[in-house]
Amino acid sequence: MKRKRKLLVSLIALVVVCLSVLFGNNLMNEDQITANVSKVNNDDRTSVSGNLMVSFIDVGQADSILIQNDGNNMLIDAGNNEDGNKLVSYFKELGINHFNYVVGTHPHEDHIGGMDDVINNFKIDNYYMPDKLSTTKTFEDVLDALENNNLSFHAPTSGEEFNLGDAKFRVIYSGDDTSDTNDSSIVLKMAYGSNTFLFTGDATSNVENKIINEDIKSDVLKVAHHGSNYSSTDEFLNKVSPKYAIISVGKNNSYNHPSSETLQKLDKRKIKLYRTDMDGTIIFTSDGSNLSVQTSKTDTNG
Ligand SMILES: [Zn+2]
Repeated sequence: MKRKRKLLVSLIALVVVCLSVLFGNNLMNEDQITANVSKVNNDDRTSVSGNLMVSFIDVGQADSILIQNDGNNMLIDAGNNEDGNKLVSYFKELGINHFNYVVGTHPHEDHIGGMDDVINNFKIDNYYMPDKLSTTKTFEDVLDALENNNLSFHAPTSGEEFNLGDAKFRVIYSGDDTSDTNDSSIVLKMAYGSNTFLFTGDATSNVENKIINEDIKSDVLKVAHHGSNYSSTDEFLNKVSPKYAIISVGKNNSYNHPSSETLQKLDKRKIKLYRTDMDGTIIFTSDGSNLSVQTSKTDTNG
């Protein structure tokens, strides 16, 4: 009996050793496979097709941003009222006849001024704006244009996500501060492969503080509110930690935007700055891994 038990114990021990060797090898193989897969995933060229273009269009003291990927188009803001016709011509020259998404970040004229012209001239799949009403003629023009074109609007909520081709968007802030129109700005983060952009509208430090713990780190920051000193806190800039910053601003504007304080903060952090008043239209191209920048003087400032 004792000998049989000894034999049984030895057999079990042998099986355990064999299994552990096999299992150990398998684990190693799986580790290697996992390492290879994550290496492929880190090379984001595999997850995007073609190039993404982001154009910060020169519309003077106002905002207008065009995003294009693989035949898909998106517009964030449409400049002042007098920029509308010029923007329509610019988009038509680019061969655009349709926008998958159009976002009016908040109902101030320098963001939705030309929006009625855009709505009247292009097919639009989705129109986004914050749940914030205004009594201005500019805002009523937008509502009329939406109605005349049988379009409804969507007020997105924080955390909502959508895609434009291979570009992934997340609504970081939904503009739910109804006391201040600038703070009703919709804030969006876009990722294309490993390249990331943060679009902030005119959000002030109130909003920056609210979203400070969100995933806002981005390669490119559209500096909020034309570079005024109501936005761009040190904490916010540290958290976003951009390589590039864009200030959309008019030459010799009466607000003295951008503020010297904001410029110093960007300079101190060695963030490469582009300004529409100095550079004209600023065009970023991403292949999912690398960013390149071109500037061009466009006839888009009304
Ligand atoms: Zn503005």
